Amino acid sequence: MITEETDIAVVGAGGGGAVLALALAQKGIKTIVLEQASGPPQGLRGEILQPNGQQVLDRLGLLSKLPIDSTRTVHKFHFCRVGGERLCTVDYSDLPPPYNRAVVTLPNVAHHAILSAIEREPSVSLRYRSAFTGLLRENGRVVGLTAKQGEDHVTVKAKMVVGADGAFSKVREALQIPADLHLYPQGYLIALLDAVIPLEEAKYFVGKRTILGMFPAAGNKVYAFYMIKTGSYDSVKARGIAALQEAWIAIDPSSEPIFRTLTDWKQTAFMPTGRVRTPTWVADGAVLIGDAAHAMNPHASQGRMQAMVDAMTLVDLIPECLAANDYSAARLKRYEDSRRPHVTMLQKLADEQVLFWNTANPVIAFLRDRVFSTLDRNPRLRYRVLSTTAGLRKDPPFTMMDRLMAAGFLPDPSSRDLAPEGIQ
Ligand SMILES: Cc1cc2nc3c(=O)[nH]c(=O)nc-3n(C[C@H](O)[C@H](O)[C@H](O)COP(=O)(O)OP(=O)(O)OC[C@H]3O[C@@H](n4cnc5c(N)ncnc54)[C@H](O)[C@@H]3O)c2cc1C
Repeated sequence: MITEETDIAVVGAGGGGAVLALALAQKGIKTIVLEQASGPPQGLRGEILQPNGQQVLDRLGLLSKLPIDSTRTVHKFHFCRVGGERLCTVDYSDLPPPYNRAVVTLPNVAHHAILSAIEREPSVSLRYRSAFTGLLRENGRVVGLTAKQGEDHVTVKAKMVVGADGAFSKVREALQIPADLHLYPQGYLIALLDAVIPLEEAKYFVGKRTILGMFPAAGNKVYAFYMIKTGSYDSVKARGIAALQEAWIAIDPSSEPIFRTLTDWKQTAFMPTGRVRTPTWVADGAVLIGDAAHAMNPHASQGRMQAMVDAMTLVDLIPECLAANDYSAARLKRYEDSRRPHVTMLQKLADEQVLFWNTANPVIAFLRDRVFSTLDRNPRLRYRVLSTTAGLRKDPPFTMMDRLMAAGFLPDPSSRDLAPEGIQ
């Protein structure tokens, strides 16, 4: 058994844990990061950096260093009916500069940049093939953890343990923090296709229990996000590539040449979707960040961004904890208090979007399309939605009155105002 000591032990080097490790390193705080995977991730996943995520990368000094040939700026997102009719266009140029755009990267580009930066930092040790196995406690408080590192059993004594180990968090389980883990019946088949015809702007199609998103990426690539039933990836594959292409062509006939570039299932992956709610994110000597604390439906387009913001919020508190030698739940609660309202709002919003966007009910679909059409005509409400998706607005985008206006039941006297209340 190997025993080591550090200030902070982070479990998981995913979207939140990696950002936390780098931010701690930049403050010179001694950190050990344990990641169960054998190396940096290689697979497909959501790669849209919203403005708040760009802000975090900028603060870490990485945004301008992302390889230009692997990143693509996107300004406009067109929401369309299945078949092609445009309902609404959201334009990131309406946001205040410099983060008035979405950035779409090739797979794992931002994550790999963060991991490489960590490897260059002497105060952080990032270990792959290292799986968390349990917590060390003294007098009721967490004082470290145990892990299996390859074939070795390791004990890490730490002033604070951070569970950044995703929706199925083992750290959360060991802390005995109860979690309401909801798995949505639908997940996403992601595909990386070739833009054999130009795709300059993003398109997002909604229909009867149908969602297909198409996002232009660097290197003349296109990400397709196609909603399928959880557990149906194998049967989709069994029906064959041609059947999937036909389904996509029926949704967006104009992109047929792009869909035809799917030639191998290796271009695809399935991502399940889940939501986590927990009564607390902190304990004496331990804290949860990201999906471990609050996974949300990807409709919010904010899960990873929120994990990154958690990390930056926590890193602002840690120097105080170290100075006061106080890692109590009471002190760590300040992190939770500052983050929970925003995250809860996004979780609720994403669930409303699940209800309206994923629907097979014609009445709900009618209302959904009417809201999109109102948003297209109404800059004030559209801006609210945009700034929320961008991660820049912490309050819910709509009041009850706004909802009635959006659904077309009330006129909106301030509909021409773009951002009357500014961004929070
Ligand atoms: C289809 C889909 C699309 C998405 N699109 C977007 C998007 O566009 N924008 C966005 O912001 N978010 C998006 N998300 C959400 C985003 O992927 C997650 O919210 C984000 O990855 C959460 O980061 P995390 O660090 O909390 O967890 P993860 O990224 O899941 O990282 C957890 C890490 O912990 C490791 N780990 C787990 N258990 C252990 C253990 N016992 N020991 C050691 N290591 C362990 C894992 O290997 C992993 O590396 C999307 C999600 C889905 C499903």
